[in-house]
Amino acid sequence: MDTIKQANRDIKSLQPIAQKACELFLNECKKKNIPIFITETHRSQARQDYLYEQGRTRQGQIVTWTRSSNHTGGYAWDIAVNPPHELYDAKIIAKAGEVAKELGIEWGGTWKSSPDTPHFQVDKNWKAPATENWKTQAIKQVCKQHNLEVNTWLGKCEEYLTVGEFFGIINKIIQ
Ligand SMILES: [Zn+2]
Repeated sequence: MDTIKQANRDIKSLQPIAQKACELFLNECKKKNIPIFITETHRSQARQDYLYEQGRTRQGQIVTWTRSSNHTGGYAWDIAVNPPHELYDAKIIAKAGEVAKELGIEWGGTWKSSPDTPHFQVDKNWKAPATENWKTQAIKQVCKQHNLEVNTWLGKCEEYLTVGEFFGIINKIIQ
């Protein structure tokens, strides 16, 4: 449910590519014991407008600088920090920012003019880094063992390969 006053926290309401990025991001944070959780994912334009009015035509603190947000397109998500830490513990959020950088995810904390540290986003061309692809890791390993140029083979190893196709490549390498 995506009402004006309530934040939607469902990862599944993001665009498929952002969903994948967000899940990878959450997994990496978990692996590194960075205690964060999602506070908002997709936002309707009506809610974005509602938030924009806060501190302007409606009482309250300003919470957003824009009417056009990557949340409305389903490409952004916000986080906060689990208790007993402060909700927006800067050090912990910065660690999550580091994780984002490793994954090619844009962190709002890097924005010069108006940083938005709880905010993360990807664009529609985002791709999981090669290190996250187990097939790529296996190819690198086999090439190393056989003293072969890894880049020759890496290009043939896309993530969508079936297991059969993947072992076909491995067989060619070790021949
Ligand atoms: Zn945000």
